[in-house]
Amino acid sequence: MPGPVDLHSHTTASDGTLAPRDLVRLAARRGVTVLAITDHDSTEGLAEAMDEARAHAGMTIVPGLEINCDVERGEVHVLGFCVDWRAEWFQAFLTEQRRERAARVELICSRLTELGLPLTPDEVFAIVKEGSPGRPHVAQAMVDRGYVKSVKEAFARYLRAGGPAHVARKRLTPAEAVAIIRRARGVPVLAHPGLGDHDALIPELVAAGLMGIECWYHEHSTSQTAKYLGLCRQHGLVATGGSDYHGPHVGGPNQPGTPEVALAAWEALRAAAERAAAA
Ligand code: AMP
Ligand code: FE
Ligand code: FE
Ligand code: ZN
Repeated sequence: MPGPVDLHSHTTASDGTLAPRDLVRLAARRGVTVLAITDHDSTEGLAEAMDEARAHAGMTIVPGLEINCDVERGEVHVLGFCVDWRAEWFQAFLTEQRRERAARVELICSRLTELGLPLTPDEVFAIVKEGSPGRPHVAQAMVDRGYVKSVKEAFARYLRAGGPAHVARKRLTPAEAVAIIRRARGVPVLAHPGLGDHDALIPELVAAGLMGIECWYHEHSTSQTAKYLGLCRQHGLVATGGSDYHGPHVGGPNQPGTPEVALAAWEALRAAAERAAAA
């Protein structure tokens, strides 16, 4: 059953395939009343989502984003909620993040071409349109070229961290991403920690200002969720959860509002946002 709260979603402003307006409509149909839009390095979808939300009584859009950081043995993603997204310095930061993402796409295309899979950056950017470029767009271009059967296969064979066509992002450490979100008066939350093995970083991220951990996530097992709820209690952090919905093209159980997240999670996050804004 879908829950009323979904604190993780993507739109065409990054690597989602639904426009912000369509995502809000779908979420509303599924009974979601609190929806965080958390595009990668972009808040460009927020204005349209908030406009659409006005047509759905009781619907709240939480302004958010997700910052992906490469670490030594993989990736760590940091969510930011209730950031002061209209601040000029923050938008300049996001613009620079997206510029670096575009440069990375060019490097990945060169790497693929060297591997015998010629791909031009323009083919990828035609898929990205106005959004924040990322590996899912490269993967889609590889599917369109017939190099792989699916986006998943493109990641598994070429684009995953450590894969033959992977290009690391070196711009920000997870602690720096946490600090930027705090500087933007937002709540930094460690995203889907169960997908990696980086729990050892949690104390240093807490010292940098981390305020939450994403505990409810479709790829977390019951025991992983329990473990992260325990770490939240131990460190005084807020537990969040969301679908990480990227659009109907991505099959599987992660629809808006799943896994079920209770309204109490949003209330705790909102209280944390008040503390972050006052700090
Ligand atoms: P990037 O933003 O370029 O680092 O790409 C990371 C994004 O790729 C994630 O946020 C997911 O949306 C997507 N992704 C990561 N791993 C996979 C995978 N194995 N299959 C499909 N999509 C993935
Ligand atoms: Fe994504
Ligand atoms: Fe993520
Ligand atoms: Zn995400």
